[in-house]
Amino acid sequence: MILNTHSICKYIFSTFEPRNKSSLFVEELLLTLNFPIIMTKYIFVTGGVSSSLGKGIISASLAKLLQARGYRVTIQKFDPYINIDPGTLNPYEHGECYVTEDGAETDLDLGHYERFLNVPTSQANNITTGRIYQNVISKEREGCYLGKTVQVVPHITDEIKRNMRLLGENGAYDIVITELGGTVGDIESLPYIEAVRQFRWEKGAHDCLVIHLTLVPYLAAAGELKTKPTQHSVKMLLEYGIQPDILVCRTEHHLSQELRKKIALFCNVNINAVIESIDASTIYDVPLLMLKEQLDKTVLTKLKLPHKNEPDLEHWKDFLGRLKNPTSEVTIGLVGKYVELPDAYKSINEAFIHAGAKNECKVIVEYIHSEFLNETNVKEKLSHLDGVLVAPGFGERGIEGKIAAITYIRENQIPFFGICLGMQCAVIEFARNVLNLKDAHSTEMNSQTSAPVIGLMEEQKQVINKGGTMRLGSYPCELKKGTKAFSIYSKAKINERHRHRYEFNNDYLQAYEQAGMIASGINPDNHLVEIVELKNHSFFVGAQFHPELKSTVANPHPLFVRFIEAAILQAKKRN
Ligand code: GLN
Repeated sequence: MILNTHSICKYIFSTFEPRNKSSLFVEELLLTLNFPIIMTKYIFVTGGVSSSLGKGIISASLAKLLQARGYRVTIQKFDPYINIDPGTLNPYEHGECYVTEDGAETDLDLGHYERFLNVPTSQANNITTGRIYQNVISKEREGCYLGKTVQVVPHITDEIKRNMRLLGENGAYDIVITELGGTVGDIESLPYIEAVRQFRWEKGAHDCLVIHLTLVPYLAAAGELKTKPTQHSVKMLLEYGIQPDILVCRTEHHLSQELRKKIALFCNVNINAVIESIDASTIYDVPLLMLKEQLDKTVLTKLKLPHKNEPDLEHWKDFLGRLKNPTSEVTIGLVGKYVELPDAYKSINEAFIHAGAKNECKVIVEYIHSEFLNETNVKEKLSHLDGVLVAPGFGERGIEGKIAAITYIRENQIPFFGICLGMQCAVIEFARNVLNLKDAHSTEMNSQTSAPVIGLMEEQKQVINKGGTMRLGSYPCELKKGTKAFSIYSKAKINERHRHRYEFNNDYLQAYEQAGMIASGINPDNHLVEIVELKNHSFFVGAQFHPELKSTVANPHPLFVRFIEAAILQAKKRN
C-alpha cells in the first residue's frame, strides 16, 4: 500500500464513519496545520420552480471561482431520464450531444463545465437514470442481490450514491459539484433527492452542502419581485428531508436587503446565503457576478475550508474585456437543419465567442436552414456573409442545400469551415462539380451511388445497435507540413474528438489531391482522412472531427480562431 497524506487521512476518516465530532476535530487540526484537503467535499445543486434557470452555468461559475482560489474542482451532472445517454436523442429534444475525450455522449452542460474550467470531463461526469437502472439490473442478473427484493430504496439510491462518490474517490479533486437535472417535485427526480438526503446524513454538514437554484419572478402588474415560489420550492425540499444551505435566486431585478431577509427567514438560511443571480448579458459574466455575491466565500465557510487567496481571474477578465470591446465585426452563416434550436449547436456558438474574443471581433451568427437553400437562392442568402460554417448532422434532410451552399462558397472564395457532415458535404460537392462524378454521394444518403466518396467505416459495418456505437471520443491525427492545417495548429500531432460512422473513401484520395483538395490531416493508425482543405482558396477547411468540443475560454480552438481571422479579412475585402 502506498502511504501518502491522502491515504493516511482517508484511513483516519474511515474509522470515524459516519462523520462525528472527533473526525471534524482531526480535519480542522490538519487544515490549521496547512495539510492539503483530505476528504473530498461535495456540493449538490438542485433546481426549483422552473426548468432552464441555468443550474449548469451556476455550477460552472462556482467551480470556476473555487478553481481560481486554488482548489481542484470537477462537476458532474445527473439526468433523470431513462435513456442510457443522450446519444440517441434528437437535438430538438435535448440540444447538442457533447462528446468527452473518453468517448462518452453526454449532456450539453458538460460543455459548459469544460469551457469554464478548461479541464476535461469523462463518462463519470454524466449519469442518467437509465444508466443507474442498467447497472442495478445487471448486478441483479449477476446474482449480487441474491435473495433480496431489488427496490428503488435502497438499491437505486445506493447506486446513485456510488456514482455521486466516484469522482471524489481517488484524491484527484478537493471538491465535486453535482448538478441534479430536472426540477424538485418532478416524479423522476425523487430517487436523486432521496440519495442526496442520505449522502448528506452520512457525510455530515461540513463535507456536503446543498445549493438550491430558484426563481424570484417580477410581477409587472404589481411592480414587485415575488418570493412565494421560492418559499414553496424550499418547502418541497424540506418535505423530502433536505434543508438547502444556500439559495441562488434567479431574478430580472436586484434583490433588496429586505427581500433577502424575507427569503432567509422563510427558508431557514443565513442572509448571506441568499445569493442574487441577476440576468447577465453573457454567461461568461456569471462567475464575476457570483464573486460579487460572495458565493465562493459562503461555500468555503460552510464547508469549513480555508478561503486561500482571492480568486485569480485575470485571464477571465481579459477574455471578457476583449469580448465586450470588439474592434471589428463579422457575420458568419451557420448552415444546418436544426437552426430553430440554437442549443443544437451550443459548442459551435461558444467556440465562435471564444475565437471572436481572441480576435477582438464581434461574431454575429446568422442561422441558415439548409432545407431552404438551393442553387437558385444561394447567392441571395450567402453573398453578404464573411464566412460560412456547414454544420454536423445526420440523415438526408437538408443535404442538397448544404451542397449547393458549398458550391457557391467554393467558387466565390468565401471562407468555409465544414464540421463532420459539413466536411463530408464539401467532399461530395467537390466530387460532383470538380471531379465530374455527378452521382457522388455518401452511402449514408444513397447506398446505391456509383461514386461512394463517403462510405461507412470498416469497423461500423457489423454494428447494429444505435447507442454509443459511433466512432466516439479522442483520436490522434497527423498534419502534413506545408498545409493550412499545419500552419493553424503549428504542430504535426494533434488529438481531436469524433462522433460519426462514415468516412472519406481513400479509393478517391489521389483524384482529389490531383484536383486540388488535399487531405491535410490523417489518422496515423488507420489512415482515415480527418481534415481536407482546398489549395486554391483563402480558407476552405473541413474537419471530420468536432473541434468545437475542445474550445474553452482559456484555449480558444485554433481552427475557429483562424476561421474568424479569415472572415475578418473577407469583411475588409467586401467593404
Ligand atoms: N452523419 C455523418 C456520419 O455519421 C456525420 C456525423 C456528424 O456530423 N456528427 O458520419
